[in-house]
Amino acid sequence: MMQIHEIEAIKSILATPKKITIIPHRNPDGDAMGSTLGLYHILKQLQHDVVVIAPNEFPDFLAWLPESEKVLIFERSFDTCKAILEKSELIFTLDFNALHRTGDQMENVLKTLTATSVMIDHHQAPDGYATYTFSDTAYGSTCQMVYDFIHQLGLENLINKTVATCLYTGIVTDSGSFRFPKTTSATHKCVANLIEKGINNSEIHNLLFDNSSYNRLLLLGKALQNLKMLPEYKTTYITLTQDELNEFGHQKGDTEGIVNYGLSIKGIDFTAIFIEHKEEGIIKISFRSQGDFDVNQFARKHFNGGGHINAAGGKSFLNLDETIQQFIAILAEEKK
Ligand code: 5GP
Ligand code: MN
Repeated sequence: MMQIHEIEAIKSILATPKKITIIPHRNPDGDAMGSTLGLYHILKQLQHDVVVIAPNEFPDFLAWLPESEKVLIFERSFDTCKAILEKSELIFTLDFNALHRTGDQMENVLKTLTATSVMIDHHQAPDGYATYTFSDTAYGSTCQMVYDFIHQLGLENLINKTVATCLYTGIVTDSGSFRFPKTTSATHKCVANLIEKGINNSEIHNLLFDNSSYNRLLLLGKALQNLKMLPEYKTTYITLTQDELNEFGHQKGDTEGIVNYGLSIKGIDFTAIFIEHKEEGIIKISFRSQGDFDVNQFARKHFNGGGHINAAGGKSFLNLDETIQQFIAILAEEKK
């Protein structure tokens, strides 16, 4: 929860029409897009001049979100976005904990801004860049935090079907359809309320998860063929090379969720997926764990990343083989 004096300060800013920009993290996921668009649809009803600026493109499986077509893409429309950011009187940064999560280019612009800013986020170790910080790792999604934030502002009457659709999207995606440990009774109460606003929860689930291309399923098949077991470390990992991605006409979002398959094997409590990005010259890594093993710490310490206790990401500047060798060496070291 935000402090009362912080809420009062934000309420007084919102009392008259403002130029407001809302920003998700780079490579935005369902929670990042759902939370930014959910808040956008609230603030628009209050006659503010609101834009969502995403650092880069969002995946196709989120392109049905209400007014996602109005989201500006920083890396595609640099000058327009920079001008809007510089004129903004209030900036919300949602679902990330450090400005570098927007990418180098956007971070450089954000660092120069002096507007009042509000961070709402559930990742560990938030940076202190915002005027008002609502950070709480107990939440399973930023969408659920935005839901509580709207209530704190006394704006719950503005949660209509459109807002509810956006917020539900982030809650369902970040909770793995309500199965991850941070799914609480409060989550279900929140969702019960959203359903009462008239959303079609089953259809949203369908749009999110039963909308794959044929190629995406073939890519999943390839990823599962590449799955390796390291039983001595209760670990599995998957690799995907750039050539494999190309073979299946890889589209943004196609690899989303594949990492979770590595945890679905009995006795496995740590998994990773290593995805080669030839153009950026990096291996992008996602980590997942079950139980106490803290993948946020692991990603921070060894792979230039971070995230949550059971879900984190990072990157490596070595090639794929070297990265895997390093990963296995670290496991051997950590086991000792
Ligand atoms: P995913 O593996 O789904 O990309 O990300 C899992 C979680 O870790 C997300 O909450 C995401 O924001 C965070 N994360 C992913 N990659 C990075 C990274 O490179 N750095 C940091 N700090 N967090 C990351
Ligand atoms: Mn999130």
